[in-house]
Amino acid sequence: MAVGAAGVTGADLDDLGSGLRGRLLRPGDDGYDASRAVFNGMIDRRPLAVARCADAADVVRAITFVRDHRLRLSVRAGGHNVAGSAVVDDAVMLDLTAMKALALDPATRTVRAEPGLTLAEFDAATQASGLATTLGVVSMTGIAGLTLGGGLGWLNGRHGLACDNLIAAEVATADGRLLRASADDNEDLFWGIRGGGGNFGVVTSFEYRLHPVDLVLAGGLTYPLSMAPRVLRFYDEFVKAAPDELSTAASLALSPAGEPTVSIVVCYCGPLDQGEQLLRPLRTFQSPTADSIQPTPYAALQSGGDAGFPDGRLHYWKSGYLRDLTDAAIGTLLRFVPSMPSAASGIGLQQMHGVASRVPPSATAFPHRAEQYDFLILSQWPDAAGTQRNVEWTKALFQAMRPHLEDAVYVNNLGDEGPSRVRAAYGENYPRLLAVKRTYDPDNLFRANQNIDPSTDVLPETRGPASPAPA
Ligand SMILES: Cc1cc2nc3c(=O)[nH]c(=O)nc-3n(C[C@H](O)[C@H](O)[C@H](O)COP(=O)(O)OP(=O)(O)OC[C@H]3O[C@@H](n4cnc5c(N)ncnc54)[C@H](O)[C@@H]3O)c2cc1C
Repeated sequence: MAVGAAGVTGADLDDLGSGLRGRLLRPGDDGYDASRAVFNGMIDRRPLAVARCADAADVVRAITFVRDHRLRLSVRAGGHNVAGSAVVDDAVMLDLTAMKALALDPATRTVRAEPGLTLAEFDAATQASGLATTLGVVSMTGIAGLTLGGGLGWLNGRHGLACDNLIAAEVATADGRLLRASADDNEDLFWGIRGGGGNFGVVTSFEYRLHPVDLVLAGGLTYPLSMAPRVLRFYDEFVKAAPDELSTAASLALSPAGEPTVSIVVCYCGPLDQGEQLLRPLRTFQSPTADSIQPTPYAALQSGGDAGFPDGRLHYWKSGYLRDLTDAAIGTLLRFVPSMPSAASGIGLQQMHGVASRVPPSATAFPHRAEQYDFLILSQWPDAAGTQRNVEWTKALFQAMRPHLEDAVYVNNLGDEGPSRVRAAYGENYPRLLAVKRTYDPDNLFRANQNIDPSTDVLPETRGPASPAPA
C-alpha cells in the first residue's frame, strides 16, 4: 500500500526497518512523537517515518533508502535548532539521538564523539579528564548542529570556535559512502563542514582537539536598566582590551519581578589570581545589584543557564553581528527592553573574541571572523496566545537595530528567513561552499538546513547595504 506522495509502500518501510540496527518509527508507534518534538515549540511537523539510527551503517542505509525512493530527508541530532530543520513533514527523519559513543584519548588530548551527544554529555566526559573544548552555553544543545554551524562558547577567546577544534569527521554522503574528512582526507569536505552546516552529508562522528580546563573564574554582574548606558559602554571598551582568556556576554532582560536589567557574564579560563586582578575594574567601576563571579567548575558554568531554556516553549529569534556597542545602538535597545512582551525573553550579545576572531575568514567555511558580538533577540513565550505580540516586538526591534548591524548572521541563529539571509550567513565563503555542495550533494538530498542550493548561481554581492528584513 502506498503511504507517501512518492509512492513508497508500507512494505518498503518495513524493509528499511528490518535492515536497521536501530528502529524505524511510524506515526502511532511508541517514540514517534518524542522523536519529532524539537526544542522550539513553534515546530509541529509529522515525518513519514523516523529512522532511529544506532550506528553509521544505519545512517548509510537510511540515506540510500531516501535517495532510491526519491523521498525528502531531515537530520536530527540535539533537536535545538530554532528553525526546526531537524523535522520535515512527510520526510524520513534520521534521528541520531541514540548515537552517543565517545572515545577520549588523554595522551593526545583528542576525543571522538558521536552526533547524538549533548553538550552536557560531552563536557561531563571530557571534564572527567580535566579537558574541554569550545562548545555553546546551554548544555542541552547538540554538539552536532552546533559544531557544523560554528559553535560559539565560553572558551572561544582562548581556543576558537567548536569548528576550529574539529580535527576530523566521518561523513555519510548522498551516494552512500562513508568518508573521512580532515586536513589530509577530502579537505574540501572538511573545510565545508566547519561552518557550512549539514549541507554535505550526515556526520556520524566528530574528532575534536581538547585543552586542559579546570576551574574557571566565572559568573555574572547585574545592574538596573537605568545604568545600562554606562555599563555597556564600559563593558565594550573593557572586553575589547581583554586577553584571550576572557570570553564574555552581555544581556538585557526582565528580572523575575518584571524589572528591566542589564547583565554581564564572564568566563576567565587562565590562572585564577590573574583573572581576579583582571576583572577587578569591571566588578568595581559601578555597584552591581548582584555579583556571582567566583571560581567555578567548567561543567557547572556550561549548565548554569539551562533553567532559562526549557523544552517546548515557543521561540522566535532574530540575529546579526554587531561590531561596536555605540551610544546609538544602546539607545535603540533601551527603547525596546521595557516593552518586552515575555519575561522569558532576552537580548544577548555573545562576544566573539581572541583566537575565534583571528582565524582567517577563508580558513574554514565559517566566515565571520572579527572582534564582535553575536547579537541575538531571543524571544520565547509559553503558548500560542502570545505569538503575535512576541513576533511583532522581535521584528520591530530587529528592524530598528539593522542600521547598527553587519549584513551578516550566524547560521545557527537563523530561522526560516529566505535566500538573502542564507547568503549573509555564508558570506564571502558562499561561492566555495557552492562548489563543495556540487561535488558532494549535486542533487541537494541534504536540503533541510540553511540550504546551499546547487542549482543556483552565486549572487555577485552578499554583503553591503542591509536589505529589508524578511519575515
Ligand atoms: C537554547 C539555545 C542555546 C544556544 N546557544 C548557542 C551557543 O551558545 N553557541 C552556539 O554556537 N550556538 C548556540 N545555539 C544554536 C545551536 O548551535 C543550533 O541551534 C544548532 O543547530 C543546534 O544543534 P542540534 O544538534 O541541537 O540541532 P538539530 O536541530 O538536531 O540540528 C540542526 C540541523 O543541523 C544539521 N545537523 C545536525 N546534526 C547533523 C549531523 N550529524 N550531520 C549533518 N547535519 C546535521 C541538520 O541540518 C539539522 O537540521 C543555541 C541554541 C539554543 C536553542
